Amino acid sequence: MPKPVVAIVGRPNVGKSTIFNRIVGERVAIVEDMPGVTRDRIYSSGEWLHRDFNLIDTGGIELSEEPLLVQMREQAELAIKEADVIIFIVNGREGITGADEEVVKMLFKSKKPVVLGVNKIDNPEQREKIYEFYSLGLGEPIPISGSHGLGLGDLLDEVIKHFPDEEEDPYDEDTIRISLIGRPNVGKSSLVNALLGEERVIVSNIPGTTRDAIDTPFERDGQEYVLIDTAGMRKRGKVYETTEKYSVLRSLKAIERSDVVLVVLNAEEGIIEQDKKIAGYAHEAGRAVIIVVNKWDAIAKDDKTMQNFEQKIRDHFLFLSYAPILFTSAKLKQRLQHILPTVQKVSENHNLRVSTSVLNDMVMDAVAMNPTPTDKGKRLKINYATQVAVGPPTFVFFVNEPELMHFSYQRFLENRLRQTFEFEGTPIKIFARKKS
Ligand code: GDP
Ligand code: GDP
Repeated sequence: MPKPVVAIVGRPNVGKSTIFNRIVGERVAIVEDMPGVTRDRIYSSGEWLHRDFNLIDTGGIELSEEPLLVQMREQAELAIKEADVIIFIVNGREGITGADEEVVKMLFKSKKPVVLGVNKIDNPEQREKIYEFYSLGLGEPIPISGSHGLGLGDLLDEVIKHFPDEEEDPYDEDTIRISLIGRPNVGKSSLVNALLGEERVIVSNIPGTTRDAIDTPFERDGQEYVLIDTAGMRKRGKVYETTEKYSVLRSLKAIERSDVVLVVLNAEEGIIEQDKKIAGYAHEAGRAVIIVVNKWDAIAKDDKTMQNFEQKIRDHFLFLSYAPILFTSAKLKQRLQHILPTVQKVSENHNLRVSTSVLNDMVMDAVAMNPTPTDKGKRLKINYATQVAVGPPTFVFFVNEPELMHFSYQRFLENRLRQTFEFEGTPIKIFARKKS
């Protein structure tokens, strides 16, 4: 079940980014702390009343040097295409403008649910300014103040009312859900075709649970897999081309539905920013990750090329140090036979459960090797650790003072976990909780 997508639209300066940051709150800060993950304020996840969703700040998407109106139109188009619910923001201090009306026309045509937020209503005296916005025909205007954090709860109450009912994933729990993610032209479709060609599709394509996805289930050696398709795989002619800059958004939906994400790179072109961004999302979403360097046939090689490329990947994707790297050629069908066994292995690791006693033995050894940090005369004391989830493996450490669990010590514990257990290909989450 992919999270619903909510898009914030509106003309420049009405406060979209301010509202976006308020809603996603601390999550953005967490992303920024992660080494190697690009700052990206365009797309993040939020939660309201236990409903998770993804939020797009369309204003944060840089479009070409187009005139303002064209830009707004493109942003609104994007929102309409990608979003399940649209938050339309207007500036309560300025009243309705022609540009607002322009966007409204498009929103109407889309027939998507729209929630109207009237921003910059910083105090109760300004509330009366919302009335003129009834005339937009978008229903009840909700007064908000992005900069003061007022009214956002009312706004989100309205937003989640429009969410589709949560649907069940149609696949068996043992089915490994795979997606191939990467820029256009890296060879995703070729890899998929090569994989399926070899593996023989046992069920024909069935429509995915989302509008954009087409899932392809298949089986090999008794293991069920399903390929979660992204827009990258099935070309859509002109429309596809012009929306390519947004393919990131569609990739995210596929990532969310996957157990294992293959991040496909093009050996000929090296690594670019967008690759990092996408890989960063897969990591953040807690999915198992394999890096596939495709078109390996197309470059000149000596005995150092593979090692050098691998080092380059490690330098660029610091946060993916756990991901195995495969070098393939979809064209010449080279090394493709490694893909599914690697998928199966990282999926196992993603679901690995460590027994509490073995885990605590490891923790004791780790602490003996590298004593816990102290701060202002107080030392971190780990009482007990336990694994609370799989997919990805998630560990809770019960401690005297969670603030004493510094990032570097957490990193050390993660490394110990990785050295002790087989976690290749999967992120690991570690939390410190106060012992109650
Ligand atoms: P965007 O271009 O729509 O993303 O707008 P921004 O979020 O960048 O905000 C534009 C300006 O409006 C900034 O100077 C914000 O500080 C200001 N602003 C945003 N929300 C509010 C608000 O609720 N009240 C007031 N008074 N100013 C706001
Ligand atoms: P996608 O946009 O990521 O799905 O990429 P495609 O699978 O459509 O491939 C883009 C182009 O790269 C096509 O012309 C393919 O024939 C070519 N291509 C794909 N895989 C390989 C490969 O391993 N080696 C070489 N030399 N070309 C490839």
